[in-house]
Amino acid sequence: MSALKCPTEGCNGLLTQRDIKTNIWCCTESECSRTAVGAAVDNLLSYFMGGLDAISAESGNVRERIIGYEEFLETARPYLHENHYACVIAKRFLSQIYDESSPAEAEKLAAVCRQLLAVFDVLDPGLSQTRALATVRLTEARLMLGDINQEELSEVMEFVCRSDYIIFIYPIFGVIKSAIYAF
Ligand SMILES: [Zn+2]
Repeated sequence: MSALKCPTEGCNGLLTQRDIKTNIWCCTESECSRTAVGAAVDNLLSYFMGGLDAISAESGNVRERIIGYEEFLETARPYLHENHYACVIAKRFLSQIYDESSPAEAEKLAAVCRQLLAVFDVLDPGLSQTRALATVRLTEARLMLGDINQEELSEVMEFVCRSDYIIFIYPIFGVIKSAIYAF
């Protein structure tokens, strides 16, 4: 969640904090000797977190925010692991604002929700509001794309009903419910 990509050319390793006391970051590849001091890592993270704040503060409408978060992920790609928390935050925003009724955005919505759910599988297994929201948004996208069968829909219903957070997602939950009856 906090790993950076190693900037050494040709290295596919990650820079992780090796020692909390000295705050030295080292590459995970044993043959790579790349290190970074904590202050440099902090600067990079301030830059990216500032970029995220600017998108939500300055973007006037949903379309601008979508472009902003997509560009943010592009900019971050060479530097941050795809599951870095800054990228996860951007993906969570995108999962909320992509328009599932547009086929092109439904594709992107499905991809971003699958990436988020893979992260939650590791970090936050079980029922949670974030997981329920990502599951419902993925289901909406799959309905738009015609990429879900009745059995899978029933599984989603069952999962969402077991979630304590159903109250928060009730409006979109209705869409899934009517889709089940439409089969
Ligand atoms: Zn390296």
